[in-house]
Amino acid sequence: MEPWSECALARLEAVLGAENVRRTPEVLRRYAVNMLSVGDIVPAAVATPGTIEEIQAVLAIANEGRLPVWALSGGQNRGYGMACANRPGTLILDLGRMNKIIEVNADLAYALVEPGVTFAQLYRYIRDHDLPLWMDVPSGSPDGSCLGNITERGAGYTPLGEKFLFSCGMEVVLGDGRVIRTGTGTLPGTKTWQIFKWGYGPSLDGLFTQSNYGIVTKVGFWLVPKPPAYEPLAVVMDGPDSVYRAIEALRPLKLSMVIPNGACVTHVRKALGLTACWGGGKTILPKVGRRFDYSSETVAELKKTFSLGDWNFAGALYGLPETVRLYRQIVEQVLSSAVPGCRFLSAEEQQASPYWKAREMAMRGEPLWQFDMSDWDGKAGALWISPVAPATNEHVAAQIRIAEEIYAKYGFSYSAELILGTGRDLHHIIWLMFDRTDPEERERADRCVLDMYDRYCEVGYLPYRTGVTTGDHLMRKLGTFRDICHDLKRVFDPNNVLAPGKSGIDLG
Ligand code: ADP
Repeated sequence: MEPWSECALARLEAVLGAENVRRTPEVLRRYAVNMLSVGDIVPAAVATPGTIEEIQAVLAIANEGRLPVWALSGGQNRGYGMACANRPGTLILDLGRMNKIIEVNADLAYALVEPGVTFAQLYRYIRDHDLPLWMDVPSGSPDGSCLGNITERGAGYTPLGEKFLFSCGMEVVLGDGRVIRTGTGTLPGTKTWQIFKWGYGPSLDGLFTQSNYGIVTKVGFWLVPKPPAYEPLAVVMDGPDSVYRAIEALRPLKLSMVIPNGACVTHVRKALGLTACWGGGKTILPKVGRRFDYSSETVAELKKTFSLGDWNFAGALYGLPETVRLYRQIVEQVLSSAVPGCRFLSAEEQQASPYWKAREMAMRGEPLWQFDMSDWDGKAGALWISPVAPATNEHVAAQIRIAEEIYAKYGFSYSAELILGTGRDLHHIIWLMFDRTDPEERERADRCVLDMYDRYCEVGYLPYRTGVTTGDHLMRKLGTFRDICHDLKRVFDPNNVLAPGKSGIDLG
């Protein structure tokens, strides 16, 4: 594809105003830096449209010159790409100015928002209007967008944590400039756009997630009615087998919805990394040079300081005080007999540890205000590799074995979190931390990630998401599905202007 020329950028300025087409070195750097293994990806410019008409005008210029455009909403995509495009010379379309909360309906427990609405913004709105609702948040920045997390099919920690599943109704500007609404939004004057997900005829919503067919300009999603009683469970488990025992014990509790939320079992090294981002101080995982210090003495000391075990279970109970009391007894009984020596932390212990405190907040939908990775940005690399596993100990063991083997080959340390989605699936979110300033280490991390994708796919575990630059590697394994994705690209974005190459879909 051609890069954006001076002439095209000048036309863009005429449409959006010069103040909404930024390309100073500082701005370009902010949108170039990432935590991936590929180095900075410098865009041509950053455009900030304020309306759908302005988005259409940008797309008209892009279509005319066949110029690449990459939309983003919050730009907090961390281990999958931060605020950068997949290749240099792209126009970043930052939708942060389009940040209206269009509706929050307390009776029917839903919200309809524009792309720029952040978790912090919606949380404050709900709080300031004293609405009896909770929202779902991720484990990342409060400045992330509600929309971006849905379009990337992110996972959260409340009972509505499977975010795309609980979204309802989108408005999308297609690559060719047409505007479409999904669900019952197809009917002018619909009264059920955020109420009934399926509409009539083919359900199109999924086409606008992890794809490059359109720019989503509105999204609806459901909220959690604030329950009369809530109890966070924090369980510390030791020994390498504890994770397998815990998964077997937790699966029936999840399937039967005794534990209804996006509960997770987290390895100590990941828990310590998260603690560092969640207000645990930047030195929580001391570095030797630029590397994290994973020596057993350091980890043992930090485990004590932050009330952590080798593996750590966070889940929660929601409902009436009576049911929550009863369910707590059941969970305690089941886990204690399945995982000998496991320990349930008291409410005071949870609040005293930045790790458990953040878990408690996230499971009732409060954004993690302390989130801070500024110490890492541009220096520390962090990639998230996320194969999905069936929720049985056999599959968890197989996945951990693969990760440990490959990490040992490339000289990295395994650290991961297992999110129990519906009870059937586990999002196995494996962290790969490396020194981004060291080209040799970056290159090693790059090879390691692709090796991980290859091995997991060989044995039937498809990752649920990739970083912005590795989509093609994965998509090439998917046969006819890949062909159809390209056919659809021709329908929605025939000039290939929207995020070409994202998820491996590219007509170029
Ligand atoms: P977050 O809000 O979580 O920080 P981003 O804004 O970085 O997420 O978005 C993550 C990815 O989702 C982007 O790289 C882009 O590919 C896609 N995306 C974000 N916003 C939109 C949108 N409005 N329409 C289509 N895709 C989007």
